[in-house]
Amino acid sequence: MKPPDRQLDFDFIVIGSGFGGSVAAHRLTEKGYRVAVIEMGRRWTPENLPSTNWLIHRWFWRPNLALRGFFNMRFFRHVTILHGCAVGGGSITYAATLLRPPEKVWGMGSWAGLAGWKEEMPRHFAAASRMLGVVENNILGPADHLLKKMADVVGAGDTFYRTSVAIFQPGETEPGGKTFHDPFFGGEGPDRTTCIGCGGCMMGCRHGAKNTLDLNYLYLAEKHGAQVFPETKVVDVKPLNGSDDGSEGYEVHTVKSTVWLDRHPGRFTCRAVVFAASSLGTMELLFHLKDRGSLPAISTQLGKRVRTNSESLIGVRVPGSPEDLSKGIAIGSGVYIDEHTHIEAVRYPSGSDTMSLLTTIMTGGRPGTSRITLWLRNLAISLLRHPWKTLRILQPWSWARETVILLCMQALEGHINMCWKRCWFWPFRKFLVSRGERVPTYIPKANEFAEKFARLSGGTAVSMLPEILFDVPGTAHCLGGCVIAASEEEGVVDFRHRVFGYKNMYICDGSVVATNLGVNPSLTIAALAERAMNFIPPASQAAWNDMAEETTSARQ
Ligand SMILES: Cc1cc2nc3c(=O)[nH]c(=O)nc-3n(C[C@H](O)[C@H](O)[C@H](O)COP(=O)(O)OP(=O)(O)OC[C@H]3O[C@@H](n4cnc5c(N)ncnc54)[C@H](O)[C@@H]3O)c2cc1C
Ligand code: SF4
Repeated sequence: MKPPDRQLDFDFIVIGSGFGGSVAAHRLTEKGYRVAVIEMGRRWTPENLPSTNWLIHRWFWRPNLALRGFFNMRFFRHVTILHGCAVGGGSITYAATLLRPPEKVWGMGSWAGLAGWKEEMPRHFAAASRMLGVVENNILGPADHLLKKMADVVGAGDTFYRTSVAIFQPGETEPGGKTFHDPFFGGEGPDRTTCIGCGGCMMGCRHGAKNTLDLNYLYLAEKHGAQVFPETKVVDVKPLNGSDDGSEGYEVHTVKSTVWLDRHPGRFTCRAVVFAASSLGTMELLFHLKDRGSLPAISTQLGKRVRTNSESLIGVRVPGSPEDLSKGIAIGSGVYIDEHTHIEAVRYPSGSDTMSLLTTIMTGGRPGTSRITLWLRNLAISLLRHPWKTLRILQPWSWARETVILLCMQALEGHINMCWKRCWFWPFRKFLVSRGERVPTYIPKANEFAEKFARLSGGTAVSMLPEILFDVPGTAHCLGGCVIAASEEEGVVDFRHRVFGYKNMYICDGSVVATNLGVNPSLTIAALAERAMNFIPPASQAAWNDMAEETTSARQ
């Protein structure tokens, strides 16, 4: 007869294979657990990645519309959220910039004082950086040189830095495109090819140079026994044998994510669950499970304190630019224009011009009808004064070649909330709905910087159309919603990522982040997951009674 644990399909089921999920899968497999990773996105390789984002069905994720790519945009009243969806989570579409946040973030938000973050985190950042192969970017493209010139003009030249990136780069003077036998894991990992600076990172690297999770954490997890189920969506998680707190284990129900009809319902059992479906994905799943009675004890703080990293996507388009601004790596450099405001030079690869459909001439002014009127007026004046130049800015062709996107982030407090509601236009089911104070749709200092940048480069400043039309900012860095906190009255997980109210249940993804980081968040998500997994004992010592602790006093 099998021992009781072996009667379950797995020890741990990890939901989602992004930064939190892949770290968890690798570390748990290393500790000897039987691990399954359930991922609704597809597997991508250099062979099946699209060559441009005009191949929308292989870029965009909206399976109900037969779009089965790795990138998604979700539109809410307060924010447009850009995120990844693939085996490897956001790492397939991300720009591979991995930065550590300033130390002050550990003293802000609901996680402040719950652990010795400042002392503990450096070693977890070091572990994650080593696994993800973080190096300083040595491929500066024309867009980075322009950013440096511009920073000098505004007196911020000394803050210019080359980004830290998870890219396998050639030596400074060497050409890219050379293949090496596993350069990272002493022969345990896959062969890798050096970067050629094509600017294509956000379209998925077709050259094997970006250190995506399926080439490091997840690769090693699978090699050591973790089972990955791609194109499989988790739709239910409930305690086994009628236990209220999950002490007997869990059953996890799934459907095939990429088909409409025969959805192949599946059921897996396990002792423990790690939710790692991203801030948006975990919130959505937990709201659904709380609402349908599968996990009723999830904290009522679910959906509270969702952060958009105070972000603004603006840019400069230089029609007929003599230099190809798409060359380099996706995010090659950055500057700090003041203590709180951080700007990075971003690009898409030449030919990937669809984002142009969301950009237009930059317009300031008060949000609402006055800004829309001003935008229409500016557009009309520009068309009358410089018809040819204006048309060249608005038309999509060569947009990536001619545009520097400026990603502006601020480490300032500010958040919205998400709740689970029926919408008047589709009352048949509930959806995630945003609530709260509107996040500013533009950061005046960043706009000023873009205007000056445009004058310097002979281009025109541009911003996102939804910001002007609907007063809705865009972000690729949605964080929070299941934040780390002292008790279930303040958050959803404790300082070890254990879900309040359940045994052997954890959250390891961007949803636990309790403050705006002011930098791209993936390295922090990975480092937090490293820390959370560090507390889990080896499989041979598992007691299966791990439960969140309420913390009354600061631990520092
Ligand atoms: C275009 C773009 C560029 C970016 N560039 C950078 C960058 O340079 N640096 C940086 O730090 N960050 C960047 N980001 C943000 C980064 O991708 C995210 O912060 C990061 O991936 C979040 O990690 P995560 O572990 O929370 O979740 P994710 O990496 O998003 O992984 C969650 C996974 O869970 C899956 N999932 C969701 N629901 C379910 C379900 N019900 N069942 C099964 N699976 C499910 C999803 O498909 C997804 O693959 C970028 C994002 C975008 C969109
Ligand atoms: S710049 Fe091109 S080759 Fe280099 S990592 Fe990005 S996509 Fe890959």
